[in-house]
Amino acid sequence: MAQIYNFSAGPAVLPVSVVHQVQSELVSYKNSGMSIMEISHRSSLYTDMEAEAEENLRKLMRIPAEYDVLFLQGGGTLQFAMVPLNLAKGNNQVGYIDSGHWAQRAIEEAQLVPKIKTDVVASAASTNYTTLPEVPKLKKQYDYIHLTLNNTIEGTMYRKLPENLKHQLLVGDMSSNIMAQRYNVEDFGLIYAGAQKNIGPAGMTVVIVKHELLDDKLELPAMLSYVKQAAKHSALNTPPVFAIYVAGLVFKWLLEQGGVEEMQKRNEKKAELLYNYLDSSSLFNAPVTKDARSLTNIPFVTGNAELDQRFIADAQESGLVNLKGHRSVGGMRASLYNAFPFEGVQKLIEFMERFEQSVGGNR
Ligand SMILES: *Cc1c(COP(=O)(O)O)cnc(C)c1O
Repeated sequence: MAQIYNFSAGPAVLPVSVVHQVQSELVSYKNSGMSIMEISHRSSLYTDMEAEAEENLRKLMRIPAEYDVLFLQGGGTLQFAMVPLNLAKGNNQVGYIDSGHWAQRAIEEAQLVPKIKTDVVASAASTNYTTLPEVPKLKKQYDYIHLTLNNTIEGTMYRKLPENLKHQLLVGDMSSNIMAQRYNVEDFGLIYAGAQKNIGPAGMTVVIVKHELLDDKLELPAMLSYVKQAAKHSALNTPPVFAIYVAGLVFKWLLEQGGVEEMQKRNEKKAELLYNYLDSSSLFNAPVTKDARSLTNIPFVTGNAELDQRFIADAQESGLVNLKGHRSVGGMRASLYNAFPFEGVQKLIEFMERFEQSVGGNR
């Protein structure tokens, strides 16, 4: 099989050694004679596997004991609703930072929850989301402020948290950069991430929530309630066993590689290589302002939609696949998640140099 480099934004590339391990133990998990897909979620085969995955995630992210770790279903999108349902209670005022497409989806869902006032406290609309929003000093204390740490589609990312959010309870959507760089879990009341970008297969969502925020007096349907999910260790109903299993293997892989610090170093190296090339190219251009650039999702354009299309098709033929940008922004996007190898970035740049020469370097 020819070497393929998968630049998909999600579902995304997995560590190749993890995929091989899945293959090698798929028919009989731990010599049980059953596949991981066939075991009971009430068996110790499952509960041991789940406990180890949680323990390794706690190590990787340095999650303090006063936080619960949940492995839920419904993707990042269900969290858009679960967060306001569970956490908007004090004065029913919640604040959102409009940093792009996914932040807007989160805002729309919060607005559908009855009796909640949703304020958009900052927006990057005026720069077409090529910068991060300027967050002003906030006059109110909100139940929480929701922040999308990495904007998967627009390619902006918070390397540091905005100063003016210091005294607010923060909820962070880390779907596309969880464990790509170090964040301090204690800076957040709740963190969530759909697995299929920087963790594992789709079907599982990581939720990390400060225990004191869980309210057992809230009357919510069980599947929508953090406190009920936490009480049952995410096994209130049949959990996504296979997705948790693969995520657990990825967590082990991350620890073997040197953890989040090592991933951050590698991701910085990969991203820097590509941004440096983009900034020096006379054909390609990275639209995101330098101080807001994402480590994991890097959009770029030629400025000519036809040329973009040709580039994507030619790259595909050379084994550089899934470089098409999101339909809302067009152009190209290279997603360089933890499992994406450095050589893939080198190959992409070599290909871009050849393409640039072939069209004469003229925009
Ligand atoms: C992909 C994505 C989502 C939506 O994730 P699903 O798991 O498909 O619901 C939410 N937020 C961000 C930042 C994303 O990148």
